[in-house]
Amino acid sequence: MKYIGHGGKEIIERILPLNEAKERIKGLKQVSVTDRVARECIDLAYGVFAPLQGFMGKADVESVCKGMTLIDGTLWPIPIIFDIDGEKVKEKGIKEKDVVLLTYHDHALAILEVEEIFHYHKLDLEQAVLGTTDLKHPGVKMYNELKDTFISGKVILASQIEFNPPFDQFWYTPKQLREIFVKKGWERTVAHQTRNVPHTGHEWLMKGAWFSANGDLPVEKIKTGILVSCIIGPKRLGDYIDEAILLGHQKLHDAKYFRDDIHLVSFVLWDMRYAGPKEAILHAIIRTNLGCTHHMFGRDHAGVGSYYDPYDAHRIFDQIPEGSLNIKPVRILEWWYCSICGEVTYSGLCGHIQKEQPLSGTMIRSIIQDKVKPSKLIIRPEVFDIMLESADKYGFGSPFCTEEYLNKRQPVFKLS
Ligand SMILES: [Zn+2]
Repeated sequence: MKYIGHGGKEIIERILPLNEAKERIKGLKQVSVTDRVARECIDLAYGVFAPLQGFMGKADVESVCKGMTLIDGTLWPIPIIFDIDGEKVKEKGIKEKDVVLLTYHDHALAILEVEEIFHYHKLDLEQAVLGTTDLKHPGVKMYNELKDTFISGKVILASQIEFNPPFDQFWYTPKQLREIFVKKGWERTVAHQTRNVPHTGHEWLMKGAWFSANGDLPVEKIKTGILVSCIIGPKRLGDYIDEAILLGHQKLHDAKYFRDDIHLVSFVLWDMRYAGPKEAILHAIIRTNLGCTHHMFGRDHAGVGSYYDPYDAHRIFDQIPEGSLNIKPVRILEWWYCSICGEVTYSGLCGHIQKEQPLSGTMIRSIIQDKVKPSKLIIRPEVFDIMLESADKYGFGSPFCTEEYLNKRQPVFKLS
């Protein structure tokens, strides 16, 4: 079955069968890669970044930075780059047209067909992608830590990726997701991106996005699913632990807050750049490749601090050329609990004076830290329970990332 991804190109998987991989990697120069590059190799190989099949060359990086397109004109907001120490390139004698083996934790990961070895100013990258070079911005920090040299080239996976529990039950490749959507009869799929254990505010965001995606349809034509697409990448102190995020969302499903046939929990591997509106576009591209037709964008999508207006990520979809993106943004404001209405209400909807706090992450965090079971209007009891279970099982007692979790957590995947 052929599947069309972003830019109207077919999704191509670039994966070597293991016996063939063993032959192909013999005698290749080896280069070990960082966590981010390993994750991006996997994404490239499965078509998560389609139409990209490898790391970008200088002309594409420049074109993305200057005009938000690849050199062939395809919309693309954030460079996908492989950075390496220039000394290492010299020491290993890596040249253009070489084929090298990328290794991760001493295992073969992927073959890289080297096209170009080049330099690019990090400050230009930061300014173009993030709109700032302020060192306090976590994306700037990430770009600053890049090595000085970049290598472009196509990537072929030369390893089997095995996800550890509980990640294994939520991992689907773009092709697998599309097969599932067909099987479920979903004609529309709205993506909900998240890095949080869901409180009822998130639940309502998803419900609102589902209503929104169906607004033009008579009842018998509603065949719309919600794909919860968690972002799994590097963690920062105080973030929710990955396991609690995935299991918390699954619990909304198992406890039937979402009907079994309209809701699926999954994840993608991605290192957040916190690039606000530009990252919103990239997330839309990724979910296009996953087979989604709609993508929900809430307040301050992929933002951080006050670098972007909370609704910049809503506006950018009006600023890109028509037809450059094959997924519809569903822009969602905020859901609140209003004590006068006695129920959940939407930004700008009811006329009561909103003295209440919105269902904010900060408030919920303080409730969780006290381990007092909050009102089910704020967080579903089943979700709260599984979060504490995950804390014990995976989080060294906490549902939030601690130093201990960051140092000792089980890896998300292993190679074989
Ligand atoms: Zn009200």
